[in-house]
Amino acid sequence: MTGRTAKIPARCECGSAATRRVNQFILRDALWWDSEFSCGTCGIYLCEHSGPEPAPDDVREALLAAHGPARLRLVGPVPRLVPALKVLREVFSAASLSRARELAAELSRDGLVGTLPEMEFLRDRLLLRGVHADIDP
Ligand SMILES: [Zn+2]
Repeated sequence: MTGRTAKIPARCECGSAATRRVNQFILRDALWWDSEFSCGTCGIYLCEHSGPEPAPDDVREALLAAHGPARLRLVGPVPRLVPALKVLREVFSAASLSRARELAAELSRDGLVGTLPEMEFLRDRLLLRGVHADIDP
């Protein structure tokens, strides 16, 4: 599995420039993100967050800026839409059925775009339900 890392400039309590290092990765069949804060001046180091939930927008934006987006597309025609809808509703938690239908339509046309770990996670979930999708290189 491909984890992704990005650095976000931050400001330390000591007044120096510090760094937030954010990671997104697949662990134990879940999509995780975490964040570490460190300051080279005063030496502080904190684990700010670690958990299996969707990454917040600033973390996703940093990862997309550092690595570019990945695009996931269904391979060939979809034999049955229901398994794909089920996965989409699971992965995009609380997606309504109509939203899941929109996502499925995007998946079969231009593809869905996100970070590489997000798209690998979705691809693997789809595959478990017999739906084949590929990530554009
Ligand atoms: Zn500091």
